[in-house]
Amino acid sequence: MPDSPRKAGTLFVVATPIGNLSDMTFRAVETLTSVDLIAVEDTRHSRRLLLHYSISTPVLSYHEHNEQQQTRKLLSTLQSGRSVALISDAGTPLVSDPGYRLIQSSHAQGIRVTPIPGCCAAIAALSVAGLPVDRFVFEGFLPGKAAARRKRLGKLVEESRTLIFYESAHRISASLSDLVEIFGPHRRAVLAREITKQFETIKNAELSQIRQLVLEDANQRKGEFVILVQGMSLDERDDDDFMGVLRPLLKALPLKQAVDLTVDITAHGKNEVYKMALKCKD
Ligand code: SAM
Repeated sequence: MPDSPRKAGTLFVVATPIGNLSDMTFRAVETLTSVDLIAVEDTRHSRRLLLHYSISTPVLSYHEHNEQQQTRKLLSTLQSGRSVALISDAGTPLVSDPGYRLIQSSHAQGIRVTPIPGCCAAIAALSVAGLPVDRFVFEGFLPGKAAARRKRLGKLVEESRTLIFYESAHRISASLSDLVEIFGPHRRAVLAREITKQFETIKNAELSQIRQLVLEDANQRKGEFVILVQGMSLDERDDDDFMGVLRPLLKALPLKQAVDLTVDITAHGKNEVYKMALKCKD
């Protein structure tokens, strides 16, 4: 009788701690112990975690620079019936971490992919931020170059959902300064630094106060950061809508005419627009 085709193995996507080794879940330990191979972002970094939990499963390095070649190897391992776990240096793989190509190709080849959920810095930060959580948007890392970063922030300024950014120590000051400049000093925000670690800081304040904290205290510039920014409120958006029309008209026309035109264009109340026009003139 001919051999029946071998059933492909399962790919487990396993979350690991973001600073405190005790945040490893039981299922994560069980899974990493029982799979045939673990794909790790950095073999040296993961050794500490694996040693801590006495996990002796073989590892294969998988990072952004060898992703293509290693994806092929991992797919053939899976196709041969063996199981694989994917971990990153910290938190949930693929969230600002490698793995996309492997997961995508696994689906394309009909390989079962299953999550072993756990830590994610963005979600941990959101859970303690005290900002609206009903709708949020994850923006990952902002661009490193100042011009690109400001452009990205400019596109986000009217976003009404809570915004989540990842940031590193060497860019935290620059990014906070750009946030203050573009979103305004009073926008509510949260700095979540070194979550689950010894010097964890969770600060909910206005953007300018957060920038101040980071500028004044060198310790607050160290470590890993999540920045959360409250979305623009509907009131702010409305104000902004009509101010965007009123301001240029005031430059070109007499006050009364600018007010009348703004009211026609935006359908805002005449009194409200008139008051703002007087303020602008002042
Ligand atoms: N996959 C990870 C996750 O699930 O959160 C994120 C990996 S990404 C390469 C690393 C970034 O995540 C850091 O620069 C920082 O912005 C954020 N991060 C990771 N651990 C953190 C922690 N303990 N406290 C604050 N931010 C953290």
